[in-house]
Amino acid sequence: LVARQHLDQATVVTINEELKVGDREIIVMAGPCAVESKELLLAAAYAVKEGGARVLRGGAFKPRTSPYAFQGLMEEGLKLLAETRRETGLPVVTEVMDTRDLELVAEYADILQIGSRNMQNFALLKEAGRIGKPILLKRGLAATIEEWLLAAEYIMSQGNDQIILCERGIRTFETATRNTLDLSAVAVVKEVSHLPVIVDPSHATGRWQLVAAMAKGAIAAGADGLLIEVHPNPAEALCDGPQSLTPANFHKLMQDLQKIAQAI
Ligand code: PEP
Ligand code: MN
Repeated sequence: LVARQHLDQATVVTINEELKVGDREIIVMAGPCAVESKELLLAAAYAVKEGGARVLRGGAFKPRTSPYAFQGLMEEGLKLLAETRRETGLPVVTEVMDTRDLELVAEYADILQIGSRNMQNFALLKEAGRIGKPILLKRGLAATIEEWLLAAEYIMSQGNDQIILCERGIRTFETATRNTLDLSAVAVVKEVSHLPVIVDPSHATGRWQLVAAMAKGAIAAGADGLLIEVHPNPAEALCDGPQSLTPANFHKLMQDLQKIAQAI
């Protein structure tokens, strides 16, 4: 179902009447790694909106490597996301990690994110296929493009074709970056599938200094959008500060991206 030969035209994922992913316009989703507090989330939301982001990101359920690291505000975080959407008008994308939380997260989110660590959580994929909400499916840490597309197939085979793929870097021998951004995946997905694909240069690189270059490369390579971590005060972030852009750096990047989008 995810293969291009099953559908002539590209799938457009509808977030709301004004917002569609995969429909020519480059859609940028931005915000903090995690929902930390009402004040920080609101500040981040206004900052990314001012820069031209169309969707607010923020994790309420965080998949942390260490069980002792900040795990997210959970339902309280979801409520803050919904409140912030009411204030700013920005739809929200947030991660769901467990089938038991799926309905709860779906009550609050406009787009449900399935993270890299859960890309092959087949029970979660199947449930996501039965829910009437767009799904952002991140590529697994060590997944081939085919495995990633088959994960999307799990969702689609249950009746949900509203899937946005997200390349976020893969594990390689390279240690200079957190992951290795596979930009060729964008071109491959465009060749073999009709689903829209966006790129997350934040988790791909792990370093804010590299985010702009990879974001620009992603758009030039044909990505339908970006997922970017932005924090009002990265040095104090509870999660992924080193890869988070300041609002000023985000605004600068958004201006540069416009030039690239016009050129292609
Ligand atoms: C995230 O986007 O918040 C995240 C945890 O990313 P990934 O699943 O790509 O590691
Ligand atoms: Mn993060």
